[in-house]
Amino acid sequence: MTIDTEKLRTGAAKWNIILDETALSRFDSYASLLIEWNQKINLTAIKDPDGIVTKHFIDSLALLSFVSPQQEAKVIDVGTGAGFPGVALLIARPDLQLTLLDSTKKKLLFLEDVLSSLGLQAETLHMRAEEAGQRSAYREQFDLVTARAVSNLRDLSEYCLPFAKLGGLFTPLKSAEIDPELACAQTAISLLGGKLECLERYEIEAGGGRSLPIIRKISHTSPKYPRPSAQIVKKPLV
Ligand code: SAM
Repeated sequence: MTIDTEKLRTGAAKWNIILDETALSRFDSYASLLIEWNQKINLTAIKDPDGIVTKHFIDSLALLSFVSPQQEAKVIDVGTGAGFPGVALLIARPDLQLTLLDSTKKKLLFLEDVLSSLGLQAETLHMRAEEAGQRSAYREQFDLVTARAVSNLRDLSEYCLPFAKLGGLFTPLKSAEIDPELACAQTAISLLGGKLECLERYEIEAGGGRSLPIIRKISHTSPKYPRPSAQIVKKPLV
């Protein structure tokens, strides 16, 4: 055993997420692969098993406490890195049709090893978000779009909202200090076809305050968006 699976099981249960033996064993294998690969490539600064449980696994799973995707919902994790929150969601909900997108190839190689070792299926997509968001195979195709630690909410909305289908949700995992970011992102969210439905605020054991803006896609995103990254940076949607 690499992690304390009982700690993970009870920590997830506090968020009303029931992890069975298969899920706990998959989380254990995931943690051990993360520690092993992290010695070769830089995947995460959190290297201790306890930190992996609380700051990666439970932090990612908390999303499912606020949002319940329907069976086989299409989910994309934008800038997934070492698989957070996407792979954690998939272990808890193996029915999800998950796409893991990242612009760094070696992180996707790690994720492919994780998926095959755990016996799980997901698409790994090596592309920049702003490029994938212009492709018909991905544009407005997803029931749920999520991301953690990728960008400020304004720019992240331009990366992510184009992926959401009408009626779908964009739910980025954010820190407690969301208010100035949210104020700055309001114009972008509405220009891109989103509407803030609610803002969940909560505390994670060992990790402090968190927030989860729940943004509904209420109208189609104009084909102008997402723009190339240089334009997103130079001319933010304000
Ligand atoms: N979501 C993971 C987590 O919370 O641990 C990784 C966060 S890491 C700080 C940010 C990740 O986003 C990196 O893996 C980076 O390659 C990816 N990324 C940043 N901008 C991106 C973009 N425009 N398109 C795709 N991936 C992007």
